[in-house]
Amino acid sequence: MLAFIRELYPVCRSITGRGVRQTLARMAAEVPLEVREVPSGTPVFDWTVPPEWNIREAWLEDPTGKRIVDFASNSLHVMSYSVPFAGQLDLEELKPHLHTLPEHPDWIPYRTSYYTPRWGLCLSHRQYSALRPGTYRVRIDADLAPGHLSYGELAIPGATPDEILIYSHLCHPSLANDNLSGLAVTLWWAKALLAQDHRRYSYRFVWGPGTIGSLTWLALNRARWPRIRHGLVAVLLGRPGPFHYKRTQGGGAEIDRAAALALREHAPDAVLRDFDPYGYDERQFGSPGIRLDVGRLTRVPNGEYPEYHSSADNLDLVSAEALTGSLQMCRTIAGVLEQNETYHNLAPYGEPQLGRRGLYRATGGDNPREREYAMLWLLNQSDGAHSVLDVAERARLPFDLLASVARELEQGGLLRTADEGREGSCRSSSSAAGWARGSANSRTRFRSRSCRSARVRFSGI
Ligand code: ZN
Repeated sequence: MLAFIRELYPVCRSITGRGVRQTLARMAAEVPLEVREVPSGTPVFDWTVPPEWNIREAWLEDPTGKRIVDFASNSLHVMSYSVPFAGQLDLEELKPHLHTLPEHPDWIPYRTSYYTPRWGLCLSHRQYSALRPGTYRVRIDADLAPGHLSYGELAIPGATPDEILIYSHLCHPSLANDNLSGLAVTLWWAKALLAQDHRRYSYRFVWGPGTIGSLTWLALNRARWPRIRHGLVAVLLGRPGPFHYKRTQGGGAEIDRAAALALREHAPDAVLRDFDPYGYDERQFGSPGIRLDVGRLTRVPNGEYPEYHSSADNLDLVSAEALTGSLQMCRTIAGVLEQNETYHNLAPYGEPQLGRRGLYRATGGDNPREREYAMLWLLNQSDGAHSVLDVAERARLPFDLLASVARELEQGGLLRTADEGREGSCRSSSSAAGWARGSANSRTRFRSRSCRSARVRFSGI
């Protein structure tokens, strides 16, 4: 992941243009993503796909003819979506076009002007303060013309066509944590999923520009909305710091509970936040006409770390440990969703006799007593209305332990998965069977039976 970030760090990305295509082409070398090209002018809800922006060079020469700011040395030097310009200006005329960070005098700021036509250059405040009166030459050799908005999409089929949607934006120039780290983590997450034999859910990764990219994808994929069961915006994942999970708009979605549980168990310093309509693409997914359950995972959020949107968000800021930990956390959250089955206890009258089934004090693992406790909780709660996640929250037992004990009880004939009666689960029952347990045949039978009787209340055996 670090090597990937290093390679793509110099590329000048924006919400459209060659840098985005170059980035997607590099990503396509890792996974079989599809690049979609949406023409400028395409209406997407209340917005319109903008003209495509491509930049060749941008520089500033001082009154002696010395080139003091040059896009070639750092893509942050030009304000993203600057209109083309070439001319001579006095210092006072030039100043409104120059952007700095006075509070961090050695850093170059990151600035954009996507929807207001203007041009700008960004430089360190130290350099700005040293500018002397005189005539400066500026050149911004850019195209702002009808073209396309590009985004990448990768669908990874699972046992059910119900999807987990992952969105990560790819519109920033030379910044490492924001947002190359999100691209790296989600790309390696996709690679890991592709290498897996079985997936309960289908996964859809969308890598596009912030705001206009998710709006475009949503506008072009209305028919797919009902298939999205869970979603996650995954960004800012390479700078060390505590995880921050931002809940979906509704706040009580399964992804919210899965993330809270995974973070409670594996990242005790993590921060859980309620939704607010600010931030990244989660606010598009959560808007009233759409209302998809899309949460957001970051480490320290946007605007809350000093290097944010400046040249200090560079390769030194991201670490392999932070990236690896982030990838692991994404997979852990998805693992909760994958294994969050709801079961029926097949011997629900009193406590079943575990001894004659070889389950009492015969269980493996490091902590037999904890396994037994998990078993009792699962048997008690498996009435078809409580999932493994419900039990984990209530019993405060580790989710993975409960999921593995549930499979043991299923193999021992004491639990059977309850079917939710959804079309998707029934149609794909046979491949769901193999998920992580290798008892495909027996599970297929259970699934098929429960699908047929999905709406018949279970009355016990
Ligand atoms: Zn940003």
